[in-house]
Amino acid sequence: MNDTLPISETFTSIQGEGKLTGVPSWFCRISGCNLRCTWCDTPYASWNPESTKRTVDELADEALKSGTQHAVLTGGEPMLFDALVPLSQRLAAQGMHTTIETAGTVTLPGVSCDLMSISPKLSNSTPVDDPRDPDGVWATRHESRRLNADAINELIASTPDRQLKFVVAKPTDLPEIESILKKLTGFAPADVMLMPEGVAVPDRDSIRWILDECLSRGWSYCPRLHIALFGDTRGT
Ligand code: SF4
Repeated sequence: MNDTLPISETFTSIQGEGKLTGVPSWFCRISGCNLRCTWCDTPYASWNPESTKRTVDELADEALKSGTQHAVLTGGEPMLFDALVPLSQRLAAQGMHTTIETAGTVTLPGVSCDLMSISPKLSNSTPVDDPRDPDGVWATRHESRRLNADAINELIASTPDRQLKFVVAKPTDLPEIESILKKLTGFAPADVMLMPEGVAVPDRDSIRWILDECLSRGWSYCPRLHIALFGDTRGT
């Protein structure tokens, strides 16, 4: 089995999103994605992938030396890479809690994960009229790949904990989320999270409707703490 991964960055910071917000974590960003979200906040791991090949041994050693108890395997789409399996297993053997951040379009048998952080992509992610995709090739590909309910259900069932993070831009995104959730099983209402689109701290008035939707459904509001603390900066 291939024991290298294309890595765009590794760093130690606090988790900025989801159930473990604020928890010190070692982050490993794997470069390469099967989607092209128009609002992607890590284009260096999707639209313009940058990477250095690193071995599972090197990465696991670095995670241990970080001194944190939590590892976050993110991307890009980390589940596209077979070597994620031995890396995740090494992290587990080292006693680390592992979160995998995925769009939930594919599964990867054998991967070890404590918290599966799934971010299903809504139609607001499709790169329609995006200058980076002048012929619309990625728009078509993205639209055909962005939702895979069977894969999401498998990911939910395969881990002890999960969260479903939806990036929302407008109230009309809600019926789309409801329709996706009808196809999913094995999650609690509070596992569903709404996160405002954008890479700036939103003002209070602009997110009131998101809070109201969360309160009425028992869903969670998902801020981006790292943006509030560090701004839209790599390595945070
Ligand atoms: S799935 Fe994630 S990494 Fe891939 S394009 Fe969308 S936001 Fe970017």
